[in-house]
Amino acid sequence: MSVWSKVKLSQHFHQLSDGFYRSIQPMPLENPHWVHWNSDFADSLNLPEQPNSEILNAFSGIELPPEFNPIAMKYAGHQFGQYNPELGDGRGLLLAEIESKDNQTYDIHVKGAGLTPFSRQGDGRAVLRSSIREYLCSEALFHLGIPTSRALGLINSNTLVYREKTETGAICIRLAHSHIRFGHFEHFFYTGQHEKLQELIEYTINHYFPECQQHAKPYVAFLKSVVLSTAQLIAKWNAFGFAHGVLNTDNMSILGQTFDFGPFGFLDSYNPNFICNHSDYQGRYSFSNQPNIGLWNLTALAHALSPFIERDDLDVTLGLYEDEVNQEYSRLMRDKTGLLRKQPQDSELFGELFRLMAKNKVDYTRFFRQLSMLDKQDEQTIIDLFIDRESAQQWLNDYQQRLTLEHTCADERCEAMRKVNPKYILRNHLAQIAIDKAEDGDYSEVNTLFNLLQNPYDEQPKYDHYSNLPPSWAEELEISCSS
Ligand code: AMP
Ligand code: MG
Repeated sequence: MSVWSKVKLSQHFHQLSDGFYRSIQPMPLENPHWVHWNSDFADSLNLPEQPNSEILNAFSGIELPPEFNPIAMKYAGHQFGQYNPELGDGRGLLLAEIESKDNQTYDIHVKGAGLTPFSRQGDGRAVLRSSIREYLCSEALFHLGIPTSRALGLINSNTLVYREKTETGAICIRLAHSHIRFGHFEHFFYTGQHEKLQELIEYTINHYFPECQQHAKPYVAFLKSVVLSTAQLIAKWNAFGFAHGVLNTDNMSILGQTFDFGPFGFLDSYNPNFICNHSDYQGRYSFSNQPNIGLWNLTALAHALSPFIERDDLDVTLGLYEDEVNQEYSRLMRDKTGLLRKQPQDSELFGELFRLMAKNKVDYTRFFRQLSMLDKQDEQTIIDLFIDRESAQQWLNDYQQRLTLEHTCADERCEAMRKVNPKYILRNHLAQIAIDKAEDGDYSEVNTLFNLLQNPYDEQPKYDHYSNLPPSWAEELEISCSS
């Protein structure tokens, strides 16, 4: 019996009218083989915990089951602030939708599946290195509790792909509740296809925002939902020290999930001006600019919805964004520091902390983890992270003083803090080590990181060194859009 007969597949997006997508067969990879298979996730979808050749052949384009009907979605988008009408799935295909055991529906998308009508000058492929980064990071974010697309499996091959050097073609099997992007709406707006735009809005609301139908103005309720979820997502990125890297409107999920991983990066030492994308010369998508860009992108979406939503409603709805980002960010930072009750002096305390962390180039993740260990370790481990120890000690004194206004004991507070301050994150150098090994045919480090990052908040003594500060060579790593 075929594995596909045991899973629940459907094709809703496929039922939209002409112009939403093009049907296209994948270009098979040569000699495909597994780099990794996400067994737990597979099991939750009624797929086998061990992948077999039937699954490999289906996802690598060699032999598609009749249940898959590959399509390339059409969208457009603003890239680095400029509108580009020509976008669409240039190397990814949507195969079907799948329902999990807990009744969640995911799109199954294969990224790196070959040429499509939207490939432009591209070759339709994704290289192994960027596929490993997407694979590991999407799962890492998921286990940190940050909304994101997921990854089911990763395939490498002997298909040669030419970038700055010759590399091999890979496929990341990406699952997301939806692959609808802000850029989908922009496409139909800018081409003046307002009937299709309305069809898309209706589809999106029916499938993903059914609660909006109860609202007096369902389209406004829909936009409000997107505004709030995007604000919450970006607040989370910033609280966790994550920079996406390419926040173009075509990389913005309508569901407010992290989507389309490229040259992302986690902060090592704290630097608000951190630019993870080497091709982002102006710093448009720098770490501290992410909240502003979120609003810029939502404004682009709102503009695309303007034929159906009155100006005042658009303004009021977009006006909710800033407060939501700030509220969510401050809630998360309070959780991270164990300062649950808002106090007037807190903004000064946080301001001073960020100033000191930036000046002393303190490792962002380590600092908060050490702060969560004050029930077991003394302050010295924190002070040691700073060059200016005196100022660090002063800040800790202020912090301890501030803690007296909380009504938790140290054990309780630190226990809760360790559940929001990860010990392990996907630092660039860790990903790079796994990539270097994988490019030599050894996928063991991908596997190790994958397992490690499933429990980012737990002490994993055997892997303690994975929480170390990055080595000096990590500073030289340059990650760009070329993937
Ligand atoms: P990205 O920077 O990955 O978000 O991609 C931006 C646009 O370029 C999307 O329309 C992609 O489908 C397309 N694209 C990126 N890389 C390739 C490639 N190697 N071949 C074809 N299209 C690509
Ligand atoms: Mg993209």
